[in-house]
Amino acid sequence: MQVIEAVQGLRRHLVDLRQDSIALVPTMGCLHAGHVSLIRKAKRLADVVVVSIYVNPLQFGEGEDFEQYPRTFEEDVRICEAEGVDVLFHPHNLYADDGAKITLKVHDMDCVLCGASRVGHFDGVVTVVNMLFNIVQPNLAVFGEKDWQQLTILRRMVADLHMPVSIVGSALIREKDGLAMSSRNRYLKDNERQQALFLSQVLRLMQQLALQGKTNKHILDLGLKYLAKSHIQVEYLDIRHEHSLLPSMRMPLTTDRLFVAATIGQTRLIDNMPLLENLEKVE
Ligand code: AMP
Repeated sequence: MQVIEAVQGLRRHLVDLRQDSIALVPTMGCLHAGHVSLIRKAKRLADVVVVSIYVNPLQFGEGEDFEQYPRTFEEDVRICEAEGVDVLFHPHNLYADDGAKITLKVHDMDCVLCGASRVGHFDGVVTVVNMLFNIVQPNLAVFGEKDWQQLTILRRMVADLHMPVSIVGSALIREKDGLAMSSRNRYLKDNERQQALFLSQVLRLMQQLALQGKTNKHILDLGLKYLAKSHIQVEYLDIRHEHSLLPSMRMPLTTDRLFVAATIGQTRLIDNMPLLENLEKVE
């Protein structure tokens, strides 16, 4: 595996590999089994796998955890090597010395869910992913369903901007007890780790209510009541159409998805699930 820090060095290295298909897996490092599942999917789909590790300052708002974000580079290298990654791209900085003067802007899709509180976050995400696409020029890029809104926005980015890249989604990976894996889980103290389980539990409860034929409004009300007992700081709990991200308040549909975000102690966590799991899709 080649570890490359410079954009020009990466470009030179990839010249000889262009006759093969290239998959990119963008990450911010502190790799866990969720990231590994993306890497394995990329390996199944392409000849060459490039993993990028870059904690992108543009997607962090003021007061967010950019400085504290866990950086575990040596362990990440070991994981990538063990998974047969071909190139690990680890730039120090992707922005001009005098700051980012040209960026991409998301419209409407970032006014809901995480975007509502993390103003500018998705502009930072699409800008850096666009940069990575320009640098690596991959045939495909793999992103996790853990960050469903991000995946939806990136699909729209390549469609709207006619980018020659396929966006591949990869299933959300959980701990055995249901907690969605996240680099930020390592911030959690023992009691917070217990409280964090409310997130996946409330979504499972809402799935059961959907199977019982309750309306989405009823399901949401009961979900909110359940979370109110948890004493965690809920940012949102919502049922939305999986592609448009518009609210869905009628009867459960196979295209509906559950979304939750909450802060536990100092740690902001998100989770999502289909409202109707394992049912055949009717669009
Ligand atoms: P991050 O390093 O958190 O920016 O995540 C890099 C990529 O890994 C994104 O596409 C995430 O959606 C994905 N990812 C993070 N956690 C998980 C998980 N638990 N399951 C699946 N994909 C994940």
